[in-house]
Amino acid sequence: MYFSESIKTLISTKIRKLELNDRWTISRNSSDFKENVFVKLEKDGVTGYGEAAPNIRYGENAELTEKMIHQCSESLLHLDLFNYTQVKDILDESIVAQNCAKAAVDMALMDWISKSKNMPLYKMLGLDADKTPVTSYSIGIDKLDRIKTKTAQASDYPILKIKVGTHNDEEIINAVRSITSKPIRVDANEGWKDKETAVKKIEWMQTRGVEFVEQPMPAMMLEETAWLRERVDLPLVADEAVMNTADIPLVAEAYDGINIKLMKAGGIQETLKMIHSARAFGLKVMIGCMIESSIAITAAAHLSSLVDWADLDGNLLIKNDPFCGVKVSHGRLILNDQPGMGVTGPW
Ligand code: MG
Repeated sequence: MYFSESIKTLISTKIRKLELNDRWTISRNSSDFKENVFVKLEKDGVTGYGEAAPNIRYGENAELTEKMIHQCSESLLHLDLFNYTQVKDILDESIVAQNCAKAAVDMALMDWISKSKNMPLYKMLGLDADKTPVTSYSIGIDKLDRIKTKTAQASDYPILKIKVGTHNDEEIINAVRSITSKPIRVDANEGWKDKETAVKKIEWMQTRGVEFVEQPMPAMMLEETAWLRERVDLPLVADEAVMNTADIPLVAEAYDGINIKLMKAGGIQETLKMIHSARAFGLKVMIGCMIESSIAITAAAHLSSLVDWADLDGNLLIKNDPFCGVKVSHGRLILNDQPGMGVTGPW
């Protein structure tokens, strides 16, 4: 069969170093920068953009991610990209164990399709940009005086997400509470290693105006988490315990909600499936992120009108975001009405 050059799909990648405003510390590690992989998908004079944020927790790194993207690009060469569910099947078959690579290609694909149709992505998906939620703003583990400063600097954000799961969680929460009485959510990132510790920590947090607790114990400790849920009043939200749709029936036995991230799910299409599946199990839904530029954050923001809670602040935590997309006004996510994801910036 003969294909002219013009109908070919071209995929190119670039690794960029995203530098964090402050050293980013969670219960398991610290970092000063992240290396993300950017994808450009070109066909018929239209360009779609995507981003992968490889995460060591899931065995991902930038080099492997880039390799996976190039490995699958051959199979996309002559496909009808508008048939995006078929493209997803191919991505699911050809990219194994680097879900963020899949996310980057799927994001570029959905950007490309909505640009080709000359409409914003949210509109193509039948969603309402006026219903985007307020995002929380994250405060990493740090010295107590830095936590107080960061809390004061975050005065424009109505909801904070505080990283805990360390030896002085109570001091961290008290430091935040010495500055503000606004709603806070906490994320232990699997940091409480036994159920007795977790129940004590959460019972105390219930008295400190905490709205919910994310990933209190290790993802593997499902039974212990179900035990914990019986004993505390705050909702428990799964993050590390849930990657994609297939994980939802099991986590529904121990958690009240799930934190869905494009990077774990493997893209926009799987994220949509997860949101609807989670609803079928009566779960609350959060849309979250890794440390990401405005490309991936904007992609997630396009889906955010479907969720209960948003935590889309990864781009706000870096100092060299090359791109412009979704804006934040007093915490509220504001999408523009440009075709595709509406992201601009230098390739
Ligand atoms: Mg989390």
